[in-house]
Amino acid sequence: MVDVLIVGGGPAGCSAALTCRRRNLSVTMVYSGDGALAKAHRIDNYPGTPRIEGQELLRLMREQAVLEGAVLQKGLVQTILPMGESFSALVQDQVLEAKSVILACGTGRVNFLENEESLLGQGVSYCATCDGMFFKDKEMIVIGSSEEAIEEANYLAELGHVRYLIEKKHDTTGLHPSIELVPGVPQALQKDERGLTVFTKQEEAYKADGIFVFRPTVALTQLLSGLESENGAVKVDTSCATNIPGVFAAGDMIGGTIQLTNAVGEGTTAALSAASYVSKMNKAEK
Ligand SMILES: Cc1cc2nc3c(=O)[nH]c(=O)nc-3n(C[C@H](O)[C@H](O)[C@H](O)COP(=O)(O)OP(=O)(O)OC[C@H]3O[C@@H](n4cnc5c(N)ncnc54)[C@H](O)[C@@H]3O)c2cc1C
Repeated sequence: MVDVLIVGGGPAGCSAALTCRRRNLSVTMVYSGDGALAKAHRIDNYPGTPRIEGQELLRLMREQAVLEGAVLQKGLVQTILPMGESFSALVQDQVLEAKSVILACGTGRVNFLENEESLLGQGVSYCATCDGMFFKDKEMIVIGSSEEAIEEANYLAELGHVRYLIEKKHDTTGLHPSIELVPGVPQALQKDERGLTVFTKQEEAYKADGIFVFRPTVALTQLLSGLESENGAVKVDTSCATNIPGVFAAGDMIGGTIQLTNAVGEGTTAALSAASYVSKMNKAEK
């Protein structure tokens, strides 16, 4: 059980991690990928780091968080469940427990494929480690929208035959040679007595026993049920508290000005609020 689980490893998450550590809280920061900052070719308006590449600034931020004692873990947080006095987070096949949560997931929005949500758990999965073995020696389709999907697809290719469809353009050079790269942009999923089918925007149809969808983020409704949002942004008060006690949010995911300095400032505010929440919880327990 850590004091604070931070979801997202961008500027907001790193800043929150640093402040949490200053308040002597134990912190695990889980991140699925690099987020917006890594896409910035050059940053000229972040004080103290003139003309720095986004990727390099992100590397420095993460390195500093580790140096100060935060634990960084690569993985996609699929869902967070409030458990009364604490929270459980599902990260692939692992469960992490925390007294409080800071969401710092950036702007990533999920556009579900048609029928995707209703077929989840019925042959459609977001987790290769959890569900891959169900499709041993079978036909699988992987729908990838980021470079992180490659690793998962390569693991599935050790179990059965994998075809790979690209949902959003990304580098697929690391794909195992046995994986068939299929042209076309996926649009809809369907299930009948003969199995699952992926339909593409180009009106092709591909059949499979299992379909794995790997995106670098999950929908807010799936991440934390009951979390209030407005126009896709998580609603917070001035202390970065969400409507769920013990859950705070910062950075691009709360909307407003989409800039680095805002994200790190909000990360600090969320961390201080989480510190105050954890401290009250600890006192109440005594
Ligand atoms: C091309 C580009 C150029 C930019 N240039 C500038 C600039 O010059 N100056 C400036 O001030 N700002 C700039 N920005 C904006 C700036 O990069 C963002 O405001 C900032 O990165 C927001 O930080 P964040 O931590 O909120 O989100 P992000 O940096 O997007 O980080 C989000 C993190 O959350 C992770 N994540 C998401 N969902 C999950 C999940 N379910 N489980 C685990 N991890 C998850 C992601 O993998 C990522 O690590 C630019 C943005 C872009 C795209």
